[in-house]
Parts: sequence; C-alpha cells; structure tokens
Amino acid sequence: MNDIPFPNFLSGYRDAELVHHVIHEIQKRLTKPWALMETCGGQTHAIMQYGLDQLLPEEIELVHGPGCPVCVTSLELIDQALWIARQPDVIFTSFGDMLRVPGSRGDLFSVRAAGGKVRVVYSPLDAVNIAQQNPGNEVVFFAIGFETTAPANAMAVLQAEKLGLTNFTILPANVLVPPAIHAILSNPNNRIQGFLAAGHVCAVMGYWEYPPIAKQYKTPMVVTGFEPLDLVNGILETVSLLEEGRASVGNAYSRAVTFDGNQAAQKMIQQVFEPVDRNWRGIGIIPQSGLGLCQAYQRFDAALRFDTGKIQTKESEICIAGQILQGLKKPSECPAFGTLCTPQSPLGAPMVSSEGACAAYFRYGRKDT
Ligand code: SF4
Repeated sequence: MNDIPFPNFLSGYRDAELVHHVIHEIQKRLTKPWALMETCGGQTHAIMQYGLDQLLPEEIELVHGPGCPVCVTSLELIDQALWIARQPDVIFTSFGDMLRVPGSRGDLFSVRAAGGKVRVVYSPLDAVNIAQQNPGNEVVFFAIGFETTAPANAMAVLQAEKLGLTNFTILPANVLVPPAIHAILSNPNNRIQGFLAAGHVCAVMGYWEYPPIAKQYKTPMVVTGFEPLDLVNGILETVSLLEEGRASVGNAYSRAVTFDGNQAAQKMIQQVFEPVDRNWRGIGIIPQSGLGLCQAYQRFDAALRFDTGKIQTKESEICIAGQILQGLKKPSECPAFGTLCTPQSPLGAPMVSSEGACAAYFRYGRKDT
C-alpha cells in the first residue's frame, strides 16, 4: 500500500523517518474522520509507547478493543481459580500477569501469601513437568489467552495424556477473536469503522475467517503487526479501504501471516478443544467465543475435577472496564483512573495486565487524552 520496501531488521520497523513517511501517506488519503479499533492489547501498548496516537492525523481515532486475555477473563473463572488454588493438595500454575488480577475477594498473590502453592510458569508444558515431578499433588494450569496460546494449551493436554498423568488438569479459559468482533460490530452503539486485526492471532489462525465478517458488517479489516511501522502500515491500508468504500480484508503483516495460518496448530486446537459460549469480563456472554475441552479430553478439565460449588461474584462498582473493552469509552474517562485505580492498587484487570488499555494510558501518561 506504500512504496517502502520491508526493512530487513527490527530497527527498520522503528525507524522514525519511515514511520513519518507512512503517516504522510495516510494524511494524503484522508477525506474524513475514521474510528479504527486495534484488537490487541500489545498493539495498544505499542501505539502509546511510540506516541503513534499523537503523531497520526486528528481525523484518525484509535479505539482500544478487547484484545487483552487477562482483562476479559470472567470474574467467575478468576474466583474459580482462587478457590482451586486455595486447596491444600493443589499446585496452581499460571502466567505471571494473572496473579494480580482482582477476583471478588483477593487475587492469586494473596492466595500465595496465605500459603497456597501458586507458581508462575512461562509455558503450559512447564506445568506438565511440575505434575510429573509432584505425583502427590494435583497440578492445575490456568489456560487463558486468545488463539495464540491455544495450541500450547492443547499440546500440554496431549503431553499429559502421553505421559499418563492423572494429576494434571487445565482450567480452560481461552477466548476467540472473531466472535468478539461480531459482538462489537452488532452492538447498536458501535462506532468502529475499521479493524486492525491482531497479527499474532492471525499467525496461528490465518485470516480466512474475516472476509465474511467484513462483508456482513461492511467494515474493512487489515491484519497488522506490533512495531510502529507495522501499525502505521496497517492504518494506511485500513484508511485506504475505507476511503475507497471497500469492505475487504488486507494483510499488512505478511512477513508473519498467511491467509491459511498455521494449519498444524489449528489441527491441534480442533483435536483437543471445541467452541463453547464464554462470559467476557465486563461484556457478558458471547456465543461460541471460548474453547472448552472436547469430550475425549474432559478428564483434564479442572472445572469438572474440582467441585467449587456455586460461586458468588462481586465486581467493583466503579470500574468501567466493560465499556473500555468494547471501545465505548477511553480509560481516561473512568472516574477512578489514576486516583482510586493505579497499577499499584488496580480496581480492574485492564489496569493490572501488561496488555491492558488502562495500564497503557497510565504508563505512557495519557491521563488527559
Ligand atoms: S481505570 Fe481502573 S477502574 Fe477504571 S476502567 Fe480501568 S481498571 Fe477499571
């Protein structure tokens, strides 16, 4: 969509001159204002970190979507995780950024401080190793994430089966991007006119699912990466499609993404998981938007192995995370932002997570945006 050849090195994707050149191209093609949503929290942080929101023409409004898996994991699931982690014979394993996410009463850190065996792992396969080394304990992995983490979560289940482990389970919490895009675009209050699709999700899933959605809602989508040049290229392609009145799907991240994606990874996901309805924190239930274990692997489901009883959830009355995750409000519009809610004492998940929009606004000083 522009005349710049792809750089060979990472530094080229952060080259200010190249970025400014693309922004100039965007400016030339603009005839009216457009509201674009970046679906991934990693993109939100890069936009804030490099000040792209301030460099872009003011006609471009970037709206932050629900692309932070930590932020959208439902309160019920977090409370369920806290309940399981408190059990004396359980070693509860999780990625690090889940530990500070507030449940109704406390977080995984507070469970660990009270003596619970909560461990941070970098891969679900680490949790399988822990299960192998601790046959006297039940080892549970909190399987959160979008389609990006689903193959590794599936692989952990397959590995546990291969090793004959009976003390390993996962708490399934994966969520899927296309149903969330449907939910956003079908909302009567929607104001998003174009999407920057998340490059890492599409690296796994491809983007074959997107053309029917773009057509149905007359909304162009462009697969976009995470470096400044990737982001402005994605914005340029989206703006060009909008200005031409074309609701089609583009790929501005072709160095990592193909139309079909990683088919071996998709096959593994389909072998172990099946789509289920899932409750997104602050948004509500989105049909067929999560991954649950399919029948053949339900013995690895922690939610079935542990009887957590009926969990009564209690959400913060102040937090407007749901409206932020749907792109209806900006973090700086939250009355608690930077006062009652900070990264040191977060009221909601978007202020905790390394990919959360509220944390990005706080970290990069967008208090008055
Ligand atoms: S600033 Fe805090 S309270 Fe407000 S929406 Fe973000 S996480 Fe929730």
